[in-house]
Amino acid sequence: MEPSAPSTPDAVVIGAGPNGLVAANLLADAGWSVLLLEAQPDIGGAVRSTREVHPAYVHDTFSSFYPLGAASPIIRGLGLEDHGLVWEQAPAPFGTPYVGGGWALVHRDREATAEALERQHPGDGRAWLRLCRQWDRVGPSLVGALLSPFPPVRHGLGLLARLPGAGGLGLVRELLSPVRTVLDSELRGTAPRLLLAGNALHADIPLDSPGSGLMGLLLTMLAQDVGFPVPRGGAGQLTGAMGRRLEQRGGQLRTDARVEQVLVERGRAVGVRLAGGEVVRAGRAVLADVSAPALYGDLVAPDQLPDRVLRAMRRFEWDPATVKVDWALDGPIPWASAPEAAPGTVHVLDSIDDLHRFETELRAGHVSDRPYLVMGQMATADPTRAPAGGESVWAYTHVPQDARSGPPGFTGRWDEADKDLVAGLFERRIAELAPGFADRVVARRVLGPPDLQARDANLVGGALGGGTAALQQQLIFRPVPGWGRAETPVGRLFLASASAHPGGGVHGAPGANAARAALLHARLPG
Ligand SMILES: Cc1cc2nc3c(=O)[nH]c(=O)nc-3n(C[C@H](O)[C@H](O)[C@H](O)COP(=O)(O)OP(=O)(O)OC[C@H]3O[C@@H](n4cnc5c(N)ncnc54)[C@H](O)[C@@H]3O)c2cc1C
Repeated sequence: MEPSAPSTPDAVVIGAGPNGLVAANLLADAGWSVLLLEAQPDIGGAVRSTREVHPAYVHDTFSSFYPLGAASPIIRGLGLEDHGLVWEQAPAPFGTPYVGGGWALVHRDREATAEALERQHPGDGRAWLRLCRQWDRVGPSLVGALLSPFPPVRHGLGLLARLPGAGGLGLVRELLSPVRTVLDSELRGTAPRLLLAGNALHADIPLDSPGSGLMGLLLTMLAQDVGFPVPRGGAGQLTGAMGRRLEQRGGQLRTDARVEQVLVERGRAVGVRLAGGEVVRAGRAVLADVSAPALYGDLVAPDQLPDRVLRAMRRFEWDPATVKVDWALDGPIPWASAPEAAPGTVHVLDSIDDLHRFETELRAGHVSDRPYLVMGQMATADPTRAPAGGESVWAYTHVPQDARSGPPGFTGRWDEADKDLVAGLFERRIAELAPGFADRVVARRVLGPPDLQARDANLVGGALGGGTAALQQQLIFRPVPGWGRAETPVGRLFLASASAHPGGGVHGAPGANAARAALLHARLPG
């Protein structure tokens, strides 16, 4: 992967996360010469995998399941299957085990989901299928609208046209409602509540806040449309395929190349300076797959930026921090009660009130001693991740960016002792549902917030969404009020990361929006 970069590529892309890779690919497709500069020794950003936990096991270092990627026309349009990507699916996309036995499960087949819900609470099966039919009418336009530049003209109009037949404004009200309101509607049993709310929290939107219903429904319905797929061989195979595609089109990838400065002349980006001093000029554009606060005021000097942007960056709201634990097991997770179909993703929560309790602690700056967990059992989805019969498992939870308190002994330093303490809380909670879990562990890795950031500078303080997804920082407010697009106050410089609309997740939209904006501006006179 060593470079023989063209002296002045048309575009320099900073950061080889999925968004940087998408942007670079689309520019190469348009015939531009592209140089992609990545600070880490490997490309992939938060889509990477490794054998560092145990040499016989593959573990994803950060993200794992890609329903948004599978649904995204941008990622699908890259044809990554021609570059070695193979998607795998667990028998069921996701589920939640009940403490007293049994599971709430979403199946790939909506009829199967409905049957299971009906068995647990008569009436819920029919209500579920009604919700699915409403989704069918608006879902594709909604996904299209989310993944287009804001405002989404074409898909927005498509969405409006479908509303009357889809249950109309009632459905829109539900989508924009807090997930609690959605759940107070027709679905009465425990299972749909756990399923929708477990997904709502992926997007750091409080359960009581507008928009949490949309995220819960979006991921749940996508699970039945496209599943929760994983790349065979590890998350890194997804970004690896993007890298191979780029190189095949003449793009250059350079790792261990951290950009320290965007060079600006007469209000326009003309290149970058690397750590170590090397200057690389860009003929037509610089695209930055870095966080908004890293771009504005750090890579771009403050005196090149309007005060308004600098003020907005001082108020920029990060999403909560993350702690992730990976385990190599010499057998499957010993669930106390086996699910009827094994889910790849498991949400560990007792009830909606339990989730609410966790959220309240998080917002109060307290590290919960009973964390809500998102878990993955990866060999269940992709047997290549572990030796035969073994399992490659991870779980993460959110912790406050500035933890003010926590369980006895917690210091907030995120040293080995803090990480051990929090990993122990994970294991205690999992053991309630899977007694004997600890006996199957052959290796473990704990990544605290500083470890995540050291492996990917965009994960500031362990934030995984590039900034909060709450409404005050979405759409036209992302990342700066009034912006909402890839263009920046500096000419020929474009923000291509999850800090731009529509935010976190592996769907490629910020990268694609930035590439389109760069191509458009290059055609404009002057
Ligand atoms: C623990 C975790 C779990 C997640 N789970 C999921 C999931 O299951 N499904 C899902 O869809 N999403 C998930 N996400 C979110 C998803 O991974 C991110 O939203 C996505 O990777 C963002 O892509 P990006 O390209 O904007 O940034 P990143 O993936 O963060 O990539 C940014 C890249 O830029 C590089 N970089 C930064 N600064 C510089 C610089 N100055 N010079 C050169 N290079 C630089 C970084 O090293 C990095 O490689 C998860 C994230 C985390 C952290």
